Amino acid sequence: MSRTHRIAVVPGDGIGKETVPEGLRVLDAAARRFGFDLQLDHYDWSCETYAQTGRMMPEDGLDQLAKSDSIFLGAVGWPGVPDHISLWGLLIPIRRSFDQYISLRPCKLMPGTTSPLANRGPKDIDFYVVRENTEGEYSSSGGRMFPGTPREFVTQDSVFTRHGVDRVMKYAFELAQTRPRKKVTSATKSNGITFTMPYWDERFAEMAKNYPGITTDQFHIDILCAHFVQHPDWFDVVVGSNLFGDILSDLGPAVAGSIGIAPSANINPEKVYPSMFEPVHGSAPDIAGKFICNPIGQIWSGAMMLEHLGEKDAADAILRAIETHLAEGGPRTRDLGGQAGTEDVGRALAEAVANGA
Ligand code: ATP
Ligand code: MG
Repeated sequence: MSRTHRIAVVPGDGIGKETVPEGLRVLDAAARRFGFDLQLDHYDWSCETYAQTGRMMPEDGLDQLAKSDSIFLGAVGWPGVPDHISLWGLLIPIRRSFDQYISLRPCKLMPGTTSPLANRGPKDIDFYVVRENTEGEYSSSGGRMFPGTPREFVTQDSVFTRHGVDRVMKYAFELAQTRPRKKVTSATKSNGITFTMPYWDERFAEMAKNYPGITTDQFHIDILCAHFVQHPDWFDVVVGSNLFGDILSDLGPAVAGSIGIAPSANINPEKVYPSMFEPVHGSAPDIAGKFICNPIGQIWSGAMMLEHLGEKDAADAILRAIETHLAEGGPRTRDLGGQAGTEDVGRALAEAVANGA
């Protein structure tokens, strides 16, 4: 019997409805070539669902998703629906209830594309941002005292647990083990944040002892952001807390080039719960409905999903197809200076995967 992976497909809003079918087209080509099956469950949850029902997803939505091995998401959000509804009604409950404690973003300058830093000449942009996704600065603990009075004050706690810090560190080191440069950089701010960040540094140093083959360094978040811009070629795996990781995981893909190409993953590494794979870009209302958006971020997210599901050969084939396509001048959408439609790019990549990229 061949291997079967059960995938929950949520195109969501705007260009998500255009990129997800192209992602599926390429996944299907990979499944045929590498001999596994994808069992797809389609969910049309979006801001339209919210307009009709008052909910982004049904009450038992998480139970339905829990049956899948992975979730393949397009984009969520639409003008007129506030972020706290689209985010907190769909994305955040998924991340939290499935303990997707790693947010992973590859930041890679692809051949045939340009980085906004191209004129500075960073040759090799190829690193990962690993963000802690469950605790840290984004705790819900804190409060406002004496509201409306001159004594008013507000606090928000940061929560760093040994369990939470160690597991993200471990993931970063394990990832670095699989990479040629074998280096982990930690984002800190222990010169200003004097309890949690020294603890973060301490756990980083402790974890490093288990990985003698890995080089480490650390920077305060402010100078680290500057280095991302000035020396993106210095980095291999960069690990950050929820807040610092959030900042770096937008900055990283931005220095590496087009938003239309960048993929991301929200991972539960132990595979107790489904992980979620989605492009970095949003629903892009300004170009939605025209089939001119770039599907590569979605397709690359599909490759990350296959790698997580244990289909490394298929994942590598998709990445090779994307690299060759971009390097050799395959059809390009407007964001990369071409005239091709979304489906032209999807078809070309599916064909490349089917024909042995
Ligand atoms: P969100 O808040 O959901 O992240 P946003 O409005 O901040 O959404 P995007 O929806 O990603 O950001 O759009 C930002 C800009 O990038 C828009 O001009 C959009 O057209 C463009 N863009 C985003 N994704 C793509 C894509 N796949 N192909 C081409 N252009 C894109
Ligand atoms: Mg945005």
